[in-house]
Amino acid sequence: MLPFVPVPPRRVDEYREACGNEAVEGVREAAAALAGTRILHVNSTAFGGGVAELLFTQVSLLEDLGIETAWQVMQGSDDFFAVTKMAHNGLQGAEVPWTDTMVETYLERCRFNALELAEGYDVVIAHDPQAAGILTALEEAGKRKGTWVWRCHIDLSVTFLPVWEFFARHVTPFDGAIFTMAEFVPPGLTGPTISIIPPSIDPLSLKNGWLGHSTGYEVLTRYGVDRSRPIVTQVSRFDPWKDPIGVIEAYRLAKPQVPDLQLVLIGSMAHDDPEGWHYLELTESVREGDPDIFLLTNLQEVGHLEVNAFQRASTLVLQKSTREGFGLTVSEALWKETTVIGGNVGGIRLQVQDAVSGYLVSSVEECAERMVLLLQEPHASAQMGKAGKEHVRRNFLALRELEQQLTMLLSL
Ligand code: UDP
Repeated sequence: MLPFVPVPPRRVDEYREACGNEAVEGVREAAAALAGTRILHVNSTAFGGGVAELLFTQVSLLEDLGIETAWQVMQGSDDFFAVTKMAHNGLQGAEVPWTDTMVETYLERCRFNALELAEGYDVVIAHDPQAAGILTALEEAGKRKGTWVWRCHIDLSVTFLPVWEFFARHVTPFDGAIFTMAEFVPPGLTGPTISIIPPSIDPLSLKNGWLGHSTGYEVLTRYGVDRSRPIVTQVSRFDPWKDPIGVIEAYRLAKPQVPDLQLVLIGSMAHDDPEGWHYLELTESVREGDPDIFLLTNLQEVGHLEVNAFQRASTLVLQKSTREGFGLTVSEALWKETTVIGGNVGGIRLQVQDAVSGYLVSSVEECAERMVLLLQEPHASAQMGKAGKEHVRRNFLALRELEQQLTMLLSL
């Protein structure tokens, strides 16, 4: 049996202040319509990356709403995760190798995981390409039961066709599919009923909840970051699409005009991301020992509280992705009233309203220019941070997402 992930309890009522009474009543009503339904989530990691972040909150809120919900994590292997990372890159448009051996490695793990999945759930929500093949594996074994939903967290608007054609065969038999934006739905996908539901952040989690000034100060001091000087931070897995190298280049272009600037790059090593180590080393070499660039990972105990402190205390947050499904880090920073400069791609466009809550940028030069502008105009930057928080409050908090998901399940 695949391992279940334990989640800390949460109570929907505690979200009234952050999300508003209407959101609480809305999600209660949607849950009441599904009373008695049992939901199972399956993904590929309980740690690192946005999906795990989302599930911790959703699973426990559903439980509080009286909907029995569980979360199981697939058992991969180094080979499997190497293949699924390749698939992830291919699905985001990179021309990657896609061989019969890779296909077999993927299918073999899906068959194994399919048979180890808990039974008796009315709805199974399988996340991302890693879990997409489980349903066809169950069908082959004659064991398909219940309603199946594929939730895709990545941008499939431009895919490398050999990879997408393979996954399309596995996605087609699902009853429903959830995408973050309408433009991410690949043309010609028929079969599942499509819903558009952007992800959300948990305003009460350790990552996003209120933190006292002194805690923030202690955290920054522990890592040697000087709070009295400007701090620009990016929180991301070490992944080419997150462009940490571009971030360092933008910092270098901005530095002559803001000489006391510090750059903090925080990146956790997700269990299902084998490229992370390689990319961390590369970023380290591009850093060239600059004492004003801080490269921090979970290995130095940078966890949720520390990320919270850095997002809160930073003068600006960057998310300079070149492709992005959503980018929870954007809403996380805006929720803390920190202005965000984000790559003008995918789900970042939903969150950063250009020139209102930050800037959308398409190059290293543009990123550097906007950094200097905002660092030299702290008042304007603070106003943008406030506007960003309101935008997140209205659109990207957990209860909104949960209500949309329950409504979708009901319609299925
Ligand atoms: N994250 C973290 N520590 C890190 C790097 C990332 O806690 O060192 C979190 C980050 O705060 C966010 C999630 O991991 O909650 C990343 O989600 P996002 O949607 O931004 O990107 P993904 O990794 O899913 O592509």
